[in-house]
Amino acid sequence: MKKFERTHYCGRLRESNIDEAVALSGWVQRRRDLGGVIFLDLRDKTGIAQVILDQKDLPEEMFSHAEGIRSEYVIQVKGLVEKRSEDTINPLIPTGKIDVRANELTILSKAHTPPFMIEENSNVREELRLKYRFLDLRRPDILRNLKLRQQVTNTARAYLESHEFLEVETPILSKSTPEGARDFLVPSRVKKGTFYGLPQSPQIYKQLLMVGGIDCYFQVAKCFRDEDLRADRQPEFTQIDMELSFVDEEDIIELLEGLFADLFQKVKGITLKTPFNRITYAESMSLYGVDKPDLRFGFPMIDLTEICKTCEFEVFRSVVNRGGIVKALNIKGGASFTRTQIEALTHHAMSLGGKGMAWIAIEPDGSLKSVITKFFKAADIDAILEKTEAKPGDLLIFSADKKDLALSVLGSLRLMVGDMMGLRDDKDYAFVVVTDFPLLEWSEEEKRYVAMHHPFTMPKDEDLELFETAPEKVRAKAYDIVLNGVELGSGSIRIHDSSIQSRMFKLLGFSEEEAKERFGFLLSAFEYGVPPHGGFAFGLDRLIMLMVGAESIRDVIAFPKMKDASCAMTQSPSEVKREQLDELSIYLEGTHAPKHEAPQMTHEVIEHVAKLSRIELDEAEKEMLTSDLMKIIAFADQLSEVDTSSVHMKESLSNAENVFRVDQVIAFDDQEGLLKNAAQVTENCIFVPKTVE
Ligand code: ASP
Repeated sequence: MKKFERTHYCGRLRESNIDEAVALSGWVQRRRDLGGVIFLDLRDKTGIAQVILDQKDLPEEMFSHAEGIRSEYVIQVKGLVEKRSEDTINPLIPTGKIDVRANELTILSKAHTPPFMIEENSNVREELRLKYRFLDLRRPDILRNLKLRQQVTNTARAYLESHEFLEVETPILSKSTPEGARDFLVPSRVKKGTFYGLPQSPQIYKQLLMVGGIDCYFQVAKCFRDEDLRADRQPEFTQIDMELSFVDEEDIIELLEGLFADLFQKVKGITLKTPFNRITYAESMSLYGVDKPDLRFGFPMIDLTEICKTCEFEVFRSVVNRGGIVKALNIKGGASFTRTQIEALTHHAMSLGGKGMAWIAIEPDGSLKSVITKFFKAADIDAILEKTEAKPGDLLIFSADKKDLALSVLGSLRLMVGDMMGLRDDKDYAFVVVTDFPLLEWSEEEKRYVAMHHPFTMPKDEDLELFETAPEKVRAKAYDIVLNGVELGSGSIRIHDSSIQSRMFKLLGFSEEEAKERFGFLLSAFEYGVPPHGGFAFGLDRLIMLMVGAESIRDVIAFPKMKDASCAMTQSPSEVKREQLDELSIYLEGTHAPKHEAPQMTHEVIEHVAKLSRIELDEAEKEMLTSDLMKIIAFADQLSEVDTSSVHMKESLSNAENVFRVDQVIAFDDQEGLLKNAAQVTENCIFVPKTVE
């Protein structure tokens, strides 16, 4: 049997291979022609080996081929590994001490000049890289990311399997799901006018798996959300999705701490401290202005609203009197910030909607540098310095505004300060579990409460009584895991009590019919014995992005979409043929819906039907048959529109089964009787239809 000859990978050759005959295959990274001797850097997935093609070692024809070799040609060489002379050793690559002297060369495939150099960290426009992703994939950095991704998936799989989880695949053609983003829809050809929703997550299926007794489920699940994209968002992404029965919040959080600790230990050799830090949603908002705090560094917000309520500084006082808040960050060592740095922070605050950024620098000698101190009474300044624990060398920056705005502006300034001071090192990993999320949030757009997590999230037992009186205060059994200011994933304990679920739907403004229409199958499953259950899902792409320190989620996905959700390489989404749309009964704006051809009963059809039925028709009968057939077609059309989804099939129309009759041969003697109905009888001959004949 013919086998492809490859004895070694290029990047794995070492001094120990010297004098071995090898066969290598790969892409030509670089070619240097010294006239009579050609040096090639041959690359495969493991790295690069230097190959020497010397006129005196190769048959003439082969050497002339070698002269035609260009970058990215795919070749095979056979030859001998030799030690490089001291002066040609390349200490920068692992194969730098050897080269391969070729005695045979085959060009396997030629290549156009690539639109960019295939090399590590190449600074190429991303759109071009994505258009030629197959070339981009040849770069070692992307390959490294994909390998780490595989390691993470395998480690997670092994961890979950060792905890008795069962991996189950759930459908992609599914029903609109409750995560709250926009669905991608797929039109059905068979049931015109209806659509599948691509899953925003396997949420409903995994809960059904719990009703199905699976107990602990996981899946490396593809999810689809039609949202505006950011650096860490893609329209389709992968989650490691889980669901467990007979658990409460603490069981799941503990399992997740174990999982992430295992992943970091096995994949990165980093020991994470468990249990992770905990913070409630309310604390996180109040201290860091966000529900995903970056805890690689400090500088929490300090509330000065009380002090500013009565202070002389009109700007702060009036904000508080109008119901706003005043908060400050004490940036330790920030007094040394340059004017440019302070201006950059001020600009940032204003770009987020702040009116400016007040600040006080406490100079090393204890004096205060600021334009606002003169508006305060000394006692108020003292109170501010005391509350913020400001010391010489510190910088206080303030935000005074409506609560939401003040929090988001100061929260964002905090991150910017962290960057400026180099406190957000991507080699540090600060995990934190955020708990006690509000169950609901008010949607100004929809003028109703919406579920902060999803509608199946269980409220805290002690907050159930607030359900109807102060819904905004109800906290949920929901938790997020946050890493370095990025939400890795979220989960919750689910409602398994139908009366709580009805109250939840009522709060969300769903009528009973609506709830039934959207989630009916889940609700009815819950009527057949449902275990208490809960789960979690984390974004695999995001986690990998943080683990490899990539700037964009696209660097850890083999074939990602661009920022406008399109694929530069395949040019999708793309137009489809008119016939494809017609089959789906989809008409695009600006085009005409094809007229439904009314069925026509032609003269030929009637003749044909008559012939098959072996009947002769006169004109009047033809007309009658035309009209009858049209009625049959119309009736069939009506029937096809009847909803049969809830109709149970009857096995048989009659309920008689296995009726037997004893077979008897009867002598035939009543010729008269037989002939009595014959159409024509001539003497003792009769005409019989052809079929009887
Ligand atoms: N389905 C949720 C999500 O995708 C996670 C969960 O609650 O398990 O965010």
